[in-house]
Amino acid sequence: MKRLSLSLLSICVLSFVLIYSCSTDEEPVAPVVQTPQYSLTVTAGEGGTVSTEGGIYDEGTELEITATPVEGYVFGGWLGTDLIFNTPTLNIAIYSNIDLEALFISENIINNDSEIFNYDVNKDYAEQIVDFYPFAFFASDLSQNVIDGVNLALKTAADEFGKYGPVEYWVFGTDKQASLDLINKFCERREILNQWTMTECLTRETDETADHSMIAYQKVGENAILNNRPSGSAAHNGGQYWGIHKMAHSYPFGFDNVFEGIPPQGDFKTVLHEYFHVVQLSSVYSLEQEEMDEAVKPNETIWMMEGGAEYMANYTLFKLINNGTLSFQKSWGSLKDKMSEKMENGKRIFLEDCPNSLLNEFNHQFCRQPGYDLGSWGVAYLLNKVNNQRVLLETFYPNLKELGFEGAFNLSFGYSTSEFYNEFYEFLKLPIEQQLEIIPDI
Ligand SMILES: [Zn+2]
Repeated sequence: MKRLSLSLLSICVLSFVLIYSCSTDEEPVAPVVQTPQYSLTVTAGEGGTVSTEGGIYDEGTELEITATPVEGYVFGGWLGTDLIFNTPTLNIAIYSNIDLEALFISENIINNDSEIFNYDVNKDYAEQIVDFYPFAFFASDLSQNVIDGVNLALKTAADEFGKYGPVEYWVFGTDKQASLDLINKFCERREILNQWTMTECLTRETDETADHSMIAYQKVGENAILNNRPSGSAAHNGGQYWGIHKMAHSYPFGFDNVFEGIPPQGDFKTVLHEYFHVVQLSSVYSLEQEEMDEAVKPNETIWMMEGGAEYMANYTLFKLINNGTLSFQKSWGSLKDKMSEKMENGKRIFLEDCPNSLLNEFNHQFCRQPGYDLGSWGVAYLLNKVNNQRVLLETFYPNLKELGFEGAFNLSFGYSTSEFYNEFYEFLKLPIEQQLEIIPDI
């Protein structure tokens, strides 16, 4: 039966071609097994053209589509994909119906907004040293002290560690409406650059239950004040798809001296810590997420990532206080004091939870706090060994992408990581007075 239908169809088509006449009032033709086909529709928004309008394609067809802006416009992104693409040339394989729109941004919008965009939004700055500072955004309930404190800390970080950007540093207060307004500003920014739709952005960033959503940072600050318990949260939240470093910081109450005994230095240090993550990630920022993670946190080990950020932040803060560049009303002790606390805290948890583990076995799931505390000691140990407090900035991270973690480590410290991990395990057994000899006296 099927065969018959098929041959009827063939004849019909053949006749049609030959003599332009073909009766179709036969019984309906049974479906023919063939490669599924899908439709692709490509349109261009105002300000540019696309290389194809699409069509019907066999499943698995691979295509390259290019968006080209006309004069006065720049390419702004592809709308209609789940992923965020920011390159004008898109390589896709067809496995479903696809609707794409190329978006373009008028250069007038960008150029007239130098206050909001203190950099060239058309340029790809990944892994580059830039000539502009990080940019901070503040919820409207934050005080001038907070604004000045965070801005000074960011400028200090960029001056000390180098300028890598663009960095967007979003600072939240305790008031919910003020934070929603700030999130709105963030989402508008994404929309202007055609990186994310307003709706998707707001849905994600105002969801208190979503991981690292922006509103979650507001919640942390609100709870700290409500419960009269100092706690904060700050993070580098990616952004490489958009060509930025997206950062968030919960209410930095230290700058307002809200809690007795917690001066601004703690929040200043936190900004330096987060910015050091910018330096670390910038060295591999054009890699895919997995490769990037593997480069900075091989096998998920966090001691270099977190210990490096923590040690460099503390070292830099105390160095600048010590040489008179920074001054604060109240003392925050010395670098040796802070490192003593970290050794005590890190070692206590280490001995309780993971006494036989080496430094590289700590990760975000296992023995996390020692990863930070003893990790910072691991970094201090190495910097002292080569007598260069800037070796991470000058040698390790600049060579990480090219040589990989082990290679960059070898180049920077002259031996292998496994030799170091064993050596450091023994170092942990020394009395604190002897350990403190490697810490700069600042
Ligand atoms: Zn960190």
